[in-house]
Amino acid sequence: MMDAGNTAYDNRIESLRQDEFPVLRDQVYLDHAGTTLYAKSLIDKFSADMTSNLFGNPHSASLSSQTSTSRIEDIRLRVLQFFNADPSEFDLIFVANATAGIKLVAEAFRSNPLGFDYLYHQACHTSLVGVREEATNSLCLDDSAVLQWLGGTNPIPESGHYDRPALFAYPAQSNMDGCRFPLDWSDKLRRSALISGRPVFTLLDAAAFVATSPLDLGNSETAPDFTVLSFYKIFGFPDLGGLIVRRQAAPVFQSRKYFGGGTVDMVVCLREQWHAPKTQALHESLEDGTLPVHSIVALDSALDVHRQLFKSMGDVSFHTSFLSQRLHDGLTALRHGNGQPVCAMYSQPPLASKRLDSPLGNGPVVAFNLQNHLGSWISLAEFEKLAVLKQFHVRTGGLCNPGGIARSLGLEPWEMKRNFSTGFRCGTENDIMGGKPTGVIRVSLGAMSTISDVDKFIAFVAEFYRTESIHEPALRITTPVHQDLPGLYVESITIYPIKSCGGFRIPTRTTWEVRTEGLAWDREWCLVHRGTGQALSQKRHPRMALIRPAIDFTNGQLQVSYRGPSEQGLAEISVPLSANPGVFQANTTSKPMASRVCGEEISAQIYTSSKVNDFFSTALGVPCALARFPPGGLGKNMRHAKAHLQKHQKVNRKIQNKMPCQFPGIDTPPDSDSESERQRILLSNESPILAINLSSLEALNRHIVEQGGKRISAEVFRANIVIGSLTSGPQPFAYSEDHWSSLRIGQQDFKMLGSCRRCHMVCIDQETAEKSEEPFITLTKTRRFDGKVFFGTHMCHIPSSSTGTKEAQFPTVTVGDSVLVDPT
Ligand SMILES: *Cc1c(COP(=O)(O)O)cnc(C)c1O
Repeated sequence: MMDAGNTAYDNRIESLRQDEFPVLRDQVYLDHAGTTLYAKSLIDKFSADMTSNLFGNPHSASLSSQTSTSRIEDIRLRVLQFFNADPSEFDLIFVANATAGIKLVAEAFRSNPLGFDYLYHQACHTSLVGVREEATNSLCLDDSAVLQWLGGTNPIPESGHYDRPALFAYPAQSNMDGCRFPLDWSDKLRRSALISGRPVFTLLDAAAFVATSPLDLGNSETAPDFTVLSFYKIFGFPDLGGLIVRRQAAPVFQSRKYFGGGTVDMVVCLREQWHAPKTQALHESLEDGTLPVHSIVALDSALDVHRQLFKSMGDVSFHTSFLSQRLHDGLTALRHGNGQPVCAMYSQPPLASKRLDSPLGNGPVVAFNLQNHLGSWISLAEFEKLAVLKQFHVRTGGLCNPGGIARSLGLEPWEMKRNFSTGFRCGTENDIMGGKPTGVIRVSLGAMSTISDVDKFIAFVAEFYRTESIHEPALRITTPVHQDLPGLYVESITIYPIKSCGGFRIPTRTTWEVRTEGLAWDREWCLVHRGTGQALSQKRHPRMALIRPAIDFTNGQLQVSYRGPSEQGLAEISVPLSANPGVFQANTTSKPMASRVCGEEISAQIYTSSKVNDFFSTALGVPCALARFPPGGLGKNMRHAKAHLQKHQKVNRKIQNKMPCQFPGIDTPPDSDSESERQRILLSNESPILAINLSSLEALNRHIVEQGGKRISAEVFRANIVIGSLTSGPQPFAYSEDHWSSLRIGQQDFKMLGSCRRCHMVCIDQETAEKSEEPFITLTKTRRFDGKVFFGTHMCHIPSSSTGTKEAQFPTVTVGDSVLVDPT
């Protein structure tokens, strides 16, 4: 299957990659359907163009203005020629992106006095689906409904409005699975409309298709009326879109009501409101406001460099099809030891089957999901964590393609609504619901992809997701330990006063208060982004580990220092521990921006001191402010734990049923009892207290060292309580915490709330803020259950029922306290 022509072209790409795409050195970029990459020559050429020409606003009359105008007109023609579109038959309207082109078409149709009927194919991108909200009637069609329509059956019942136009939208290629649809549908529809006498227009979404294929609009009689695309998907740059209009369909825009600067010849205001739209060229009347001059100019360089590096779109198409066939074959061939496939494929192979008599095959996109050897699904969020760590760039999730996802995954509307009502949102971590995935993994190829990218990805999936022998370590469940574990004690206690920043170790012999929300002063502060209100996380900003808060009871202050490399004179700062209202932003009627922690809206108090906020902003290089979320709040001043027991944990069922859980199963909706039992937390991610067991760390380190890695320290897990064991040597208690149901630490009782799910944040060295692959890689190989990775255990304090004792009034824990495990 690999012939000399394929490999010769691939070698050529491989050799230009170093100079043209230096950023790809250690990265495997496989998200070309998201955006492809721009070449260095493109940026150099554009930069030379920009610095050697004077470009004015095209709406003026100066020489620089004329330069811009004539360049734009030349480029407009050049782009039309790129699609073999005759400028006397087509016009090109520059828009921000494909979506803006779609909206411009929708805007014209919705202003039609008779309204319009909208029909869209199931594989449509969200941006096309949204048009239905403007339509009089709308209908989503699958392949067979389209074929019936082409055969003469009108899918929208006649209602006497024979003049009401219909708009049919479909993608030339699905952005989800690369499926291509016949380009002659527009022609066939036009013919059938001639018979029925009803005006039908076609909107072709070519955004995904043109990225790797030639689009030929040579025959204006058969071409779609409206074609939208985004140039960044072809060239990587500029960020610009285009709407190509067949001139015969141009009258549709006459009903458009809005007019913007540049689109009118005269406007009269005040008493007689009147305006005259520009009539010479269609694009003049549709390009509202100042054109993105520099982006359009960049298209010139983009077209030149693309041809120089990749020859023609035909070559790109050939190359990407070849790679995608290899990728499809490689993933399909992966089998677990028991013969079960590793990948459930949703894309057709590019060269083999051709659907719907379309000669085009499938685009270079492979959509799939991973399954373990027993057929259970691997969580997308989990896959992504590992992929990010291994420097693969792919897309996961719903991919802005609701109809395509529902078809591939067999999700019925009621299931999607149920998932929504039980907390599923675009981008959440709980992505397996009701035993089905809620999204897919999409790997997509582009002009600068190579055989090596494809092979690396297949090897990655094989290494981490294929189970050779049935005795995969991840599925071996340690037998519950039913005897008391002798010699367990509290090795250290750490709090993290500012969420995601460094820890503060509680000195030995210091008693530390424990509350229902967790250890005193733990995650009571956070840093919020000034633009978005989102709480910052170390996952995105590893340098947060170098911000070191300390609780200073002598002076009543939270003291913060920064241990960054050579950070010029960042003095320490401090804020009072007492919550003096004067230091926070006033709660004015103009509602302050909502803060968000893990996507959840909270109302935090933001500090006003610019000295304090500048300290953090400078240390991190992110505009942020310190915020406080004190205990005892109500409503948005309060949060609840999300931790719950996992399936791999064999803990007494009776206790499990009483566990607090944010996303309760469908069968057991939350009742008032379980509501009242939900544990309060401050700004920690999931639960009041996180504990780890050093015996488990020892077991993990043994695995890492066996693979030639370096031991990792307990700090990376950012636990509150580290439990050590006095027995040395082989660790009989490794991972016994999975099966504990409660603990007694010193005089205090704690309830276990379930294992802690991990992400690649555990790879950040808390001393240096440097990132490595471990321990996440070894955890995925040894501690993966149901496709998720776990280490450590969530827990909460159980207030004592006896009253009057000192321990009940002011519960505390101390380093060195003995730890007793309740044998369930
Ligand atoms: C990318 C894409 C879009 C959206 O493009 P924008 O540039 O985000 O407007 C629409 N449809 C398809 C098929 C796409 O691939």
